[in-house]
Amino acid sequence: MGKEFLIAGNWKMYKNADQSRAFILELAKTFAPVTGLTVAVFPPFTALAGLRGLDARIKIGAQNMFYEEKGAFTGEISPVMLQGLVDYVLLGHSERREIFKESDDDVNKKVRAALQFDLLPVLCVGETLQEREAGKTMAKIKNQLEKAARGLENSEMGKITVAYEPIWAIGTGRNATPGQAQEVHHFIKGVWREMAPGQKLKILYGGSVKPENSLELLAQDDISGVLVGGASLNVEQFSAIIHSCAQLLNK
Ligand code: PEP
Repeated sequence: MGKEFLIAGNWKMYKNADQSRAFILELAKTFAPVTGLTVAVFPPFTALAGLRGLDARIKIGAQNMFYEEKGAFTGEISPVMLQGLVDYVLLGHSERREIFKESDDDVNKKVRAALQFDLLPVLCVGETLQEREAGKTMAKIKNQLEKAARGLENSEMGKITVAYEPIWAIGTGRNATPGQAQEVHHFIKGVWREMAPGQKLKILYGGSVKPENSLELLAQDDISGVLVGGASLNVEQFSAIIHSCAQLLNK
């Protein structure tokens, strides 16, 4: 199939430093390296330093960052502080946008700062249930993508991973059907092709992914991975999702 998959776990505000280390060591025992499959977890900031170099097969990401390099920004974490600790940084998660009122402009500044400091952005986009029901899904996604990528060079666009996360599917147990997800992923690919000619794009689906639905979602043409919240907090469940991806690659 030739797809390069990314299976990513967003731990949100769960697990302290010790629990995070224990999880990685446990998870590492459950899978063998598979060509075409990258596994990553996004623990809380406080766990990151303790995870450095723990297991090379499990990449580490941060769940957020501020866009300034340093300064009087109490409580914030800069891209420079993340250098050497993480490969990826999650940006524009709907919980950041909705609860912490991050704007498209903030997300754009964060994407630019991440790239400037060699961190790989995983850019989250997605519509509310109201927007979906009003037929505004594609317009919302296109707008989020265009605003997040404002001012980027074509080559920088090639370093971004997009995560399509319908807000109505996050933490609700109600996932988008594989067909609904594929439709939006296909649309995102088209938008990206226009914005960044010649650049490949990896698009993850996120929203109530679990072992029971991961295989079917990953089998869709334009889905090249999943961003898993709740099910990534449990070694057996996250491992089962990784295995479903390996199964697909071994077909
Ligand atoms: C998420 O937090 O990005 C997410 C998709 O959560 P869940 O899998 O729990 O819906």
